[in-house]
Amino acid sequence: MANLNTFAPSHQPRKSYELPTVSKKEKVVVVGAGSFGGWSALYLLRKGFQVTLIDSWGPGNSRSSSGDETRVIRSTYGANEVYFDLNVRALELWKENQLRFKKQLFCNAGVIWFCYEDKTPLVDDSIVFANKHKQSYEYLSKKEIEAKYPHVNTDDLHHAYLDAFGGYLKARESCQSVLDAFIQEGGEYIQSFVIPDKLESDRLNSISLSNGSRVNSDVFLFACGSWLGKMFPDVLSSVITCTRQEAYYFGVPPTHVKAFDTMPVWIDVDGKDFYYGIPGNANRGFKLGVDERGDSFDPNVGDRILNQQVLEKARKFIGHRFPALKNAPVLESRVCPYENSPDGNFVFDKHPNASNVVFLGGGSGHGFKHGPALGELVADVMAGERKSPEIFQLVINN
Ligand SMILES: Cc1cc2nc3c(=O)[nH]c(=O)nc-3n(C[C@H](O)[C@H](O)[C@H](O)COP(=O)(O)OP(=O)(O)OC[C@H]3O[C@@H](n4cnc5c(N)ncnc54)[C@H](O)[C@@H]3O)c2cc1C
Repeated sequence: MANLNTFAPSHQPRKSYELPTVSKKEKVVVVGAGSFGGWSALYLLRKGFQVTLIDSWGPGNSRSSSGDETRVIRSTYGANEVYFDLNVRALELWKENQLRFKKQLFCNAGVIWFCYEDKTPLVDDSIVFANKHKQSYEYLSKKEIEAKYPHVNTDDLHHAYLDAFGGYLKARESCQSVLDAFIQEGGEYIQSFVIPDKLESDRLNSISLSNGSRVNSDVFLFACGSWLGKMFPDVLSSVITCTRQEAYYFGVPPTHVKAFDTMPVWIDVDGKDFYYGIPGNANRGFKLGVDERGDSFDPNVGDRILNQQVLEKARKFIGHRFPALKNAPVLESRVCPYENSPDGNFVFDKHPNASNVVFLGGGSGHGFKHGPALGELVADVMAGERKSPEIFQLVINN
């Protein structure tokens, strides 16, 4: 059975927990300007906090998890209602913010789930949430798939569900837009590599920057993606682990451009590796991702050269599901890091030994889309206005 962490993380109940609250007079430093840190910094700023955002290589840089061209946005999370609801809010906020930014970042292409069996809990268990939010899915029989998408091979499919509310997001571009808004709205941004200084009696008072300076703050929020585990090895080395993941952009033959570019984002629930893709992909080619966990990876020094074995698998799959793409050329490829948590849940919690250090991470291959809703949550929780969902609690099993 596939590792479901990316698609439906565990929703086992945990104890409720408290995070430090911050007064508006206090300063907050956010380290990491990816989807998690960038949106958090923006929402903390909008809440009235004094915020400094720091990133070593810039928002959506090529080493980061948020650095690809596009990311899927979908609410479906099996029986996990927390993420379903978070994504519904994220959808609202993406739409609201893209108007503010005057830039289209969300493409409402829809998301089609290819199902092999009569019952597919990963999708079926979300139907009740979709109906509750008036975002019901459309059931498509094999015949209906063939009529709507004649370029899809349905031989091994039982049916599909179409979620018309999802689609895809421009990834690295939106990180840059969030930073632009953050600066425009009065935030301070520094581009520099951060090393946390030593803790002093239960607190972190300062961090050192690669530009030679030192920054003090009342509270530090570390949203460092795949780097988090190495940054705080005594606490997080077994909690946030990094694997290399691959995505390919295939060239669609001229005869099929319209058919492919106008079809929804698709997710193939084949029960083993989980293939998914973004047909339009901001004109970069037909994107195919393989969700199978790759090898351990160092996001600082690892080369981003594609793995031939994974590519062969991807090619085999794409030729099977979309016969017109059998010999399609690879136009571009990406090697991106997954910042895995043990059960796929995000981590939003304080450092066990430092009362003013908060971690935000563990996106685990599905975090990007939640950025604005998560940022809003972070600001609300830090202002003492809301509690964080229990499943984001840090659990250390040594
Ligand atoms: C191949 C792939 C496909 C994915 N598909 C999807 C998808 O379809 N939909 C979806 O929602 N999610 C998806 N994800 C997951 C999503 O991309 C991540 O969960 C999300 O981007 C994580 O954002 P982040 O801000 O936590 O981390 P990052 O984007 O990695 O940001 C961390 C930032 O911290 C900075 N940093 C690190 N260390 C330091 C330091 N010491 N000093 C200063 N700065 C530092 C880095 O430069 C970086 O900019 C996918 C991920 C991968 C790899």
